[in-house]
Amino acid sequence: MFSSMYQATGFKRAIILCQEGKVEEAEALLKSLQDEFLAVCEENEALKNQLSEVADVLDLAEKVQFDGQKYWLMDAGEQKGPFCQVCYDRDGLLVHLQEHDNHWECQSCHGLYLRTQEADPMRKPKSNVRSTLKKTIPLFLEREMG
Ligand SMILES: [Zn+2]
Repeated sequence: MFSSMYQATGFKRAIILCQEGKVEEAEALLKSLQDEFLAVCEENEALKNQLSEVADVLDLAEKVQFDGQKYWLMDAGEQKGPFCQVCYDRDGLLVHLQEHDNHWECQSCHGLYLRTQEADPMRKPKSNVRSTLKKTIPLFLEREMG
């Protein structure tokens, strides 16, 4: 708002300076207006990128489902995953969990998730009583900081 007002008045002043024959002053003014314009363009570009990142995150957030332990991605009716809860919450990254006999393991943070029937959305709990039981706490292992 301020920028465009500044430019509008600045351009008018440049015209007046030209009419008065003060070409050098007009040139200097136009140069500073150009700098201002480029800065505004840059800011606009940055805001556009930010906006599209936010849109992507929101889009992803709509497709991600939490089963009480892990995340699953619903994409075009297809269920993908599961993904690590810790990595997604902390970094916004969907990290595939590796399947083991009794647990899932994150290759990134090495978090472990016990495999429970209830925790799989494919096999939904039959009653609300059971769904409150499914809140098994994941067995996290802290990521070793190198
Ligand atoms: Zn992880």
